[in-house]
Amino acid sequence: MQNYTRMLEAEGICKRLVETYPDIFPDVDPNSIVAMGLQVKRPKHYLANIRIPRGIIKALFEMLKTKYEFVIEIPLISWAPLDKARKQWILFHELCHIYKDPETGKYSLLQHDVQDFALVLKNVDIGWQRSEKLPELLGTEPFKF
Ligand SMILES: [Zn+2]
Repeated sequence: MQNYTRMLEAEGICKRLVETYPDIFPDVDPNSIVAMGLQVKRPKHYLANIRIPRGIIKALFEMLKTKYEFVIEIPLISWAPLDKARKQWILFHELCHIYKDPETGKYSLLQHDVQDFALVLKNVDIGWQRSEKLPELLGTEPFKF
């Protein structure tokens, strides 16, 4: 049985990212995102993972009349030691996956190879998860892309 706890911290960061960068995330409703921390003993191969709920989770969300369109799963063991800037870039990256079809209004998730995510790669070098001085996205001023 996997152990999940809701992560208001991550949801708050997502909300502030959407509010701070409306041009980058015009179609993202922060209230449509729920973040769940996963308790694991060993790190996973990802730091965060965004999904569109399917199957029983989707049915439950509908039954409970939630507005959640996306679930971000975050392995807590890797999250805890991260600094503020890294947490922000990781969630920024996850938000970049969100795509809303302008005709149907339906959401889907973009794959990395579509545009991974030029914004991230252009501005922080490839090893950004490790790079020493990563600029904050939610500092006193918005990051200039
Ligand atoms: Zn990704």
